[in-house]
Amino acid sequence: MRIGTGYDVHRLSEGRKLILCGVDIPYEKGLLGHSDADVAVHAVMDALLGAAALGDIGQHFPDSDPAYKGISSLELLKKVSALLEEQLFLIENIDCTIVAERPKLRPYIDDMRKNLADALGLELSRVSVKATTEEGLGFTGTGEGIAAQAVCLLQPMLEMGPDDRMPGPARCPGCDRWCET
Ligand code: MG
Repeated sequence: MRIGTGYDVHRLSEGRKLILCGVDIPYEKGLLGHSDADVAVHAVMDALLGAAALGDIGQHFPDSDPAYKGISSLELLKKVSALLEEQLFLIENIDCTIVAERPKLRPYIDDMRKNLADALGLELSRVSVKATTEEGLGFTGTGEGIAAQAVCLLQPMLEMGPDDRMPGPARCPGCDRWCET
């Protein structure tokens, strides 16, 4: 198994849409950025790339490239998914936390999870999205910006035994022995 973490922050600004995990959330401000500034998807992509030791999103999708201006970050997430597949990694699970004082995100969480799961071709049960506030403290507390953190686990396919995930004897990815599971 490989673990990865991602972290991102974007500034809240007037005249922008607020897009989180691909969901267009009604609010008086939106996140500023070169793409759609979907801070949560950015954190998820960095976690996935980090777990695979494949660099970061700045390297893969530079904000100096006009091709990515205004692009939906879910499209970028699909590219990361293809990259992981190419490198023979399976995604075990993803857990993302969005830190925002306002708006309340609870009504949108299910759609956010579905968008991430669909973009990555995962079952919904492997994708978690949570929201929290920082009790009015710091830049998220004052509403200057929104932050997001993500962690993920990847399973390298090359480390999987032929009977991995099957009942009965399986090669242990940790010690490379055949174990009774
Ligand atoms: Mg970003």
